[in-house]
Amino acid sequence: MASLIRSVTLRLRPAVQSACAFSTKPGAASGEPQPSFGGISFELSPEQLEFQETARKFAREEIIPKAAHYDKTGEYPWDLVKKAWNLGLINSHIPEHCGGMDLGILDCTTITEEIAYGCTGVQTAIEANSLGQMPVIIAGNKEQQKKYLGRMTEEPLMCAYCVTEPVAGSDVAGIRTKAEKKGDDYVLNGSKMWITNGSVANWYFVLARTSSDPKMPAGKAFTGFIVDANTPGITVGRKEWNMGQRCSDTRGITFEDVVVPKENVLGTEGIGFKIAMGAFDKTRPPVAAGAVGLAKRALDEATKYSLERQTMGKPICEHQAVAFMLADMTIGVETARMATQRSAWEIDQGRRNTYFASIAKAYAADVANKAAADAVQIFGGNGFNSEYPVEKLMRDAKIYQIYEGTAQIQRLIISRELLAAAKSKW
Ligand SMILES: Cc1cc2nc3c(=O)[nH]c(=O)nc-3n(C[C@H](O)[C@H](O)[C@H](O)COP(=O)(O)OP(=O)(O)OC[C@H]3O[C@@H](n4cnc5c(N)ncnc54)[C@H](O)[C@@H]3O)c2cc1C
Repeated sequence: MASLIRSVTLRLRPAVQSACAFSTKPGAASGEPQPSFGGISFELSPEQLEFQETARKFAREEIIPKAAHYDKTGEYPWDLVKKAWNLGLINSHIPEHCGGMDLGILDCTTITEEIAYGCTGVQTAIEANSLGQMPVIIAGNKEQQKKYLGRMTEEPLMCAYCVTEPVAGSDVAGIRTKAEKKGDDYVLNGSKMWITNGSVANWYFVLARTSSDPKMPAGKAFTGFIVDANTPGITVGRKEWNMGQRCSDTRGITFEDVVVPKENVLGTEGIGFKIAMGAFDKTRPPVAAGAVGLAKRALDEATKYSLERQTMGKPICEHQAVAFMLADMTIGVETARMATQRSAWEIDQGRRNTYFASIAKAYAADVANKAAADAVQIFGGNGFNSEYPVEKLMRDAKIYQIYEGTAQIQRLIISRELLAAAKSKW
């Protein structure tokens, strides 16, 4: 991959790894997590600053001018995805042995925030690759990784994460897609819903039930599969016309007697639920970063407008009611970014970050929704009109409270973690 970021990574990595307290991917060389004991630092590394700058330039120069067009037409933003791929702004966490850059999650959040600033529809299209790839990264064997992740470093290909079904989203253990062992193969039957990148994916991660015992615990009842998108028996549904993020491709997918070789089982039979849920520890921080990017865009648009728009003889930013809305938006952006970075940093240290990832995802999603609504308010009537950018931000923001675990599910996780810790202490 002729990638700017990749050359930056290779050039800076040794220096960064030894010098940076807020380190990017500790232990990448040894494979062992190496906690950083340098104390707290809020500096990004030189390498991260270069990622940020590249992504920021791409968002400002390439994404923003086209965002309204893609929002109106709902076309898949292939040209932007291909440019992002060429710049190394997509698939950045693929391991080096597959030809990837093996970046840490903090690196990814830095890139994601900037892309989201440009358009979160484009960011979701890109981010769905990370979600589809993550089960293969955390549980795939070397051959599976080389075959399915390796090809994504050779050309701009997409993949998708197929877990949700028409009958079960939050209740993952309620999914009904079945995989039956027949000889050396598994045969999949069932329907998935709301699958991002559904029609453009080259392959899918699919979670299916392999146990016929209804009493089998979720941790043993499901299996994760890699399924080539061109396998006979797969039918992709119509594009869903969503409230926001309209250029992101959302589809239902039906599996009818789809034959998958046993070589495509991730890990072993029965551990799919853990794999599917484990992926979120690494993907929720970037999703939170997407929400932060949207909130920052709302803040910037509202600030600019408030300096220009005059009422009662002065710019509206000089009315305290408006200035305080801007202040609240700023508080949200700064604190949501810190929560996001903390959750990314924890997992980069090799520590379980479920608690922090849910805090970041829940909080950043709420901040994005409030910031977008406040931006619309500051724009007044113009805010309600699609000629101005903030109406799109308000529509785009809502999904952050729904996908990758709803606002309520994040709170369920946080409260469980909190109470488990409390019970072990008191
Ligand atoms: C645009 C878009 C893209 C998506 N992309 C993907 C994808 O790529 N892959 C994929 O697998 N899925 C994807 N999803 C699905 C998404 O993850 C689910 O929609 C989400 O998890 C919620 O599930 P649900 O829609 O079935 O709602 P439900 O689970 O039916 O929830 C309905 C409401 O009840 C609340 N609720 C449910 N259970 C509880 C509980 N125990 N406690 C408190 N409140 C609860 C929820 O918070 C919600 O408010 C996508 C969805 C959308 C809309």
